[in-house]
This record gives sequence, structure tokens and C-alpha cells, in this order.
Amino acid sequence: MKRQYDYLVVGAGPFGAVFAHEANKRGKSVLVIDRRNHIAGNMYCETKDDINIHVYGAHIFHTSIKHVWDYVNQFAEFNHYVNSPVANYKGEMYNLPFNMNTFSKMWNIRTPKEANEIINKQRAVISGGEPKNLEEQAISLVGTDIYEKLIKGYTEKQWGRKCTELPAFIIKRLPVRYTYDNNYFNDRFQGIPIGGYTKMIESMLEGIEVRLGVDFLKHRDEYETLAGKIIYTGPIDEYFDYSEGVLEYRGLHFETERLEEENLQGVAVVNYTEGEIPYTRIIEHKHFEFGTQPVTYVTKEYPKDWKIGEEAYYPVNDVKNLDLYAKYVKKAKIVSNVIFGGRLGGEYKYYDMDKVIASALELCKKELDK
Ligand code: UDP
Repeated sequence: MKRQYDYLVVGAGPFGAVFAHEANKRGKSVLVIDRRNHIAGNMYCETKDDINIHVYGAHIFHTSIKHVWDYVNQFAEFNHYVNSPVANYKGEMYNLPFNMNTFSKMWNIRTPKEANEIINKQRAVISGGEPKNLEEQAISLVGTDIYEKLIKGYTEKQWGRKCTELPAFIIKRLPVRYTYDNNYFNDRFQGIPIGGYTKMIESMLEGIEVRLGVDFLKHRDEYETLAGKIIYTGPIDEYFDYSEGVLEYRGLHFETERLEEENLQGVAVVNYTEGEIPYTRIIEHKHFEFGTQPVTYVTKEYPKDWKIGEEAYYPVNDVKNLDLYAKYVKKAKIVSNVIFGGRLGGEYKYYDMDKVIASALELCKKELDK
């Protein structure tokens, strides 16, 4: 039987969109489906009062991979946004990431030498050697004051676990700097696509058939036979009907409000680092694009336990889940006409957007240029 399409791409997020774009460019016939009623996955933005709202949480594009930066710049023009969030601890405001501005405010000091001396003293509370968990890692990086005020509460509500039960690598995402530099990222390239992420993904998918509101797993029989090959970017465990068990994620709940105010917080992201406040951060979306509208939209982000059927945000990369994931990878290898990819489908990783795009481009090279 002649298949109608060369490729069926399940999921219109960044992984699926990059693959679809590259396949289409090489003359392959492609159908993209997504069970949501919009494209762009969790990068999706909705425009209200001329403000692009990051519906699934703040997305700031940053990368050090030159070819990924060049790649995304074909589909959007990026602005000069530099992420410089602020932490609010019981009303005290501290700059992030942890840098001389943070240290100076915390201890009323001025020089890197003074900061270093304080942190050195404070880190003596933990025994030497490789940090065994997030708490030890954090204290060894920035000392006990910053750990108690800016890390402990935030991290424990974000992950729903004690810092002593979390892997050290999570906190290593954040730079620690002995300079007065509030740039949250160390990457060479950074910005927000002008006009929002949806427009960028739309541009990748130009000229490609996209069907929205279509759940592949519910219509497997119909869709499996449509194409010679399937690129599946949905949850890998769901594909196999959870036969080995359920991979865990951390969930998020968002509450968005429109305010008749021009500028509520003066910055896109304020982290609430004390444990008692149930949300982790408030996003004021207009500041991602230097908006000057007379109104503003703000979103409170509440971490929560995740259940099957809800949107999956952060993979819980502990030993139990990684073992389970390895079992699914084994199963996936046997399904010859399906390629699993993306944050949920192929990797189960705490992934930034640039890594997802890099991984999609890798697949394109292997699959389309062979
Ligand atoms: N973190 C923290 N305090 C903050 C911001 C971040 O302790 O004010 C820790 C927390 O453990 C979090 C990790 O750093 O899970 C990574 O933060 P990042 O901002 O990279 O998280 P994302 O933006 O991916 O949610």
C-alpha cells in the first residue's frame, strides 16, 4: 500500500516543527498533528492587548551553540532581552543569579574578596568532598545565608522535596559570579523572538499540513498507516500504554491576571523564595518585549504534583525514573518505523529550548541526509 505521507510528525512543538521544516525542505511529504488546539508546544504564546503571554511559563531563548542560534534566527528576529530576575525574600529584594549585587545586598560588602571570605566561612559547615545532594551543593557554592534565603524555600516548593533529597545538578544550572553582572545566563546568545514564539514556530511550519486537536494515541489505527515513518514527540511511556510504569514529572499551575496598570513589578520575573508563599514566581509578560502598553498581564506560577493527563513540565530525573526511562528506550528501539524525540518523547531530560532544537537538527542529519 502506498503511504500518503513520507513522515507523520506527532507534536507541533519545537522538535516536531524543526524536523517537519527540514523534511519539507528536502521535498518529503509531511503531516504534523498535535492533540492541543495550538502549535508551538509549551513555547506557545497568546497575544492579548498586544502583549505576548507565555502561556506555559516563561521561555527565554539562550544558547551557546552558534548553529542553533543561526538556525532560529531564520524564523524570527530576536530582541535584546537579557534575563535578570529578582528574588523577593519576605520583602527583601536580591538580584539573581548569585553575584556581587546579591552578596553586597546580603552582607553590606563591596568587593569580591569580602564576598569570598564570607562564603568560605559559611561553607565550612559541610564536610568536604563531592556534594551529595542539592543542599550540600548549594552551601558549597554560595554559603548558608543565600541557601536559607534564596534557595531552600524556592527549591523545596518547586520540586516538592527536601533539598537533601534532590540531585546536586539542578542548582548547577545557575551561575555564581564574583562580578556585578545580573545576566541569569552565561550563554553567548540570548533574546526573545519579536512577536512571540508562536509566530516563530508558525514560520517553521509554513507550507506544511498541520492538523490540531488530533490525539495520535486515540486514533492510532488511522494515523499509523498514513506515513512511512513517524516522528513521535509525545510522552514515551504513554506511547507504550505505561506498560513498564509511569514516568514522573513536576506539574505547574498558572494564574494569569490582567491589570489596569502600566508596570507592576518593573521586571519580567520575580522569584518568591520563601517557603510559605505557594507560588515560585510572578511573570510580568510585557517586559520580555519591552512593552509600553497601558495595561499589563501577570502570571503566578504554582508548582504541583503531576498526574497522568496533565501537562508535563519538569522530568523528575532521579534514579527510579531514569531506570524506568531506560526500559522504555529499549522498547522504543524495537519499533522500527517510529523515531522518538524531544523533551518528552526521546530524552526525558531537564532540557532548555536550544538543546531540543540541537537534538532535532541532529536527527535531521541522521534521518534526512543519509
Ligand atoms: N533556584 C533557587 N532560587 C531561585 C531560582 C532558582 O533556588 O531564585 C534553584 C531551584 O532549585 C531551581 C533551580 O535553581 O529548580 C534551577 O532554576 P532555573 O531558573 O534554571 O529553573 P527554570 O527556569 O528551568 O524553572
